[in-house]
Amino acid sequence: MWRRPLSLVESREGGNNSMRILLVRPAQIRWREEARRVGTPTGLLSIASVLQKYHDVEFVDAAAEGYRIESEVKPDLFRFGLPDAEVLARLDSFKPDVVGVTDSFTAYWGTTYDLLKSIRRHAPHVVTIAGGHHVSEAAEDILRLDSETRCLDIIVLKEGEASIVPLMRSIEERRAPVDVPGIAWRGPGGEIHVQPFRTWIPNLDDIPDPAWHLMRTSVYCKEMSHHGPPRGSNFLDMLFSRGCPTGCHYCTSTSYWGKRVRYFSEERVRHQVETVRALGWKEIVVEDDNFLALPRHVQRYICRALKDSGLHWCNDGGLYLPLVTEASVEMLAESGCYRVFLPLEHPRVGVMHRNHKYLQIPNDAAFRTLIRRVTRMLRSAGIEFYCSVMVGFEGETCEALCDAVALAEFVNDECGAMGTAFHWVQQFPGTQLAGNFKLWQISPEMYSLSKMPSRWDVFSSLVPARLRHAPSHQHSRPT
Ligand code: SF4
Repeated sequence: MWRRPLSLVESREGGNNSMRILLVRPAQIRWREEARRVGTPTGLLSIASVLQKYHDVEFVDAAAEGYRIESEVKPDLFRFGLPDAEVLARLDSFKPDVVGVTDSFTAYWGTTYDLLKSIRRHAPHVVTIAGGHHVSEAAEDILRLDSETRCLDIIVLKEGEASIVPLMRSIEERRAPVDVPGIAWRGPGGEIHVQPFRTWIPNLDDIPDPAWHLMRTSVYCKEMSHHGPPRGSNFLDMLFSRGCPTGCHYCTSTSYWGKRVRYFSEERVRHQVETVRALGWKEIVVEDDNFLALPRHVQRYICRALKDSGLHWCNDGGLYLPLVTEASVEMLAESGCYRVFLPLEHPRVGVMHRNHKYLQIPNDAAFRTLIRRVTRMLRSAGIEFYCSVMVGFEGETCEALCDAVALAEFVNDECGAMGTAFHWVQQFPGTQLAGNFKLWQISPEMYSLSKMPSRWDVFSSLVPARLRHAPSHQHSRPT
């Protein structure tokens, strides 16, 4: 039986349950054509688990609990989730000292910021903290732009499990968190301090399991899936690893989680899968950023644990095409994986090479051959697959856009994909692409958050009508 290591979770003497902390996943937005996707806030639940050893923690999933409460905030753009007033009512009843919000998706920042402003107006004494890909990677800009409103006090940078405990201690002791690495915060005079993130937790077994028990399974329904109809009556996204070695220029994964892939031990994977099964989850959606970059023995023990659980499972983190082999497809099929995501990205490998992806693929013809080979293997193994294509890369021509549509038609019509979704390329904070825009000064106004519309037009639908049955992705980190 796995025993929780003490490094991050041991209780401080006399310090149990000393503060009340409300953790919130805010409401989300979607375009009319977009699925109302709601994934599992795994990062926030992992932070909750660390904090519960020291403090009283309550969790509000505004996006999921208010899934059917929707309003049009501008033409064709909808906000869905609990109204901010409902979150404030929960705040009044719990009376927290600290509110922590997650924001990993750039497109949701407007909604998250609205909530933070409401909290500041309603309960000015409460300390506000944010974490997640978007706020972490744009921390300084966000705090600067918030200088007048001052509704956000602290941003946790990157992986927060190690910094959150000393940060809370400093808040509890009412002293400035000057000794806490990996945070950005505003001092009493309004000055912004950025204390760089130092290092990722080397061994994932040192962090506790996410606090899945804080999620009520009855709240999470099949319609929340963005990857086609799930087979279970509910589904839970899970991550068995962190990090991606590839470092594609449009993705935040490598910058946020690191280049080195870290993973849970077999014992922990089995423990986690068994825990979520016992909690009533019927399907596991594997969201590891680059599953096939894991060592083979790790892939195998994850697959074995999933098979032994008897739960439905699929892979939505994506398979890196050049790494797909007969053996890996056989392993997935044998363990019961019924669906995978193939991020094709772009028909022109030259464009991909400039973005540090598919460097192993020499030319467009070889890419097509690879797609044919991989999709044939998946079809033979009885595994469904869906794809994505990205458009809007720097230097892209009308001809390249036509090629992108042709690629979608090819995988849908000739290769048997369930569907293909299109994404705009965006210079998300934390990506190399954002750095390039800054560096090249091609369009600095496009990079500056101060010039951005309050709700980025990230999810504008580009999907031709006849492809609209495709699962619709809203990732800030397309795999
Ligand atoms: S897009 Fe996928 S392969 Fe590329 S860095 Fe991100 S997670 Fe890794």
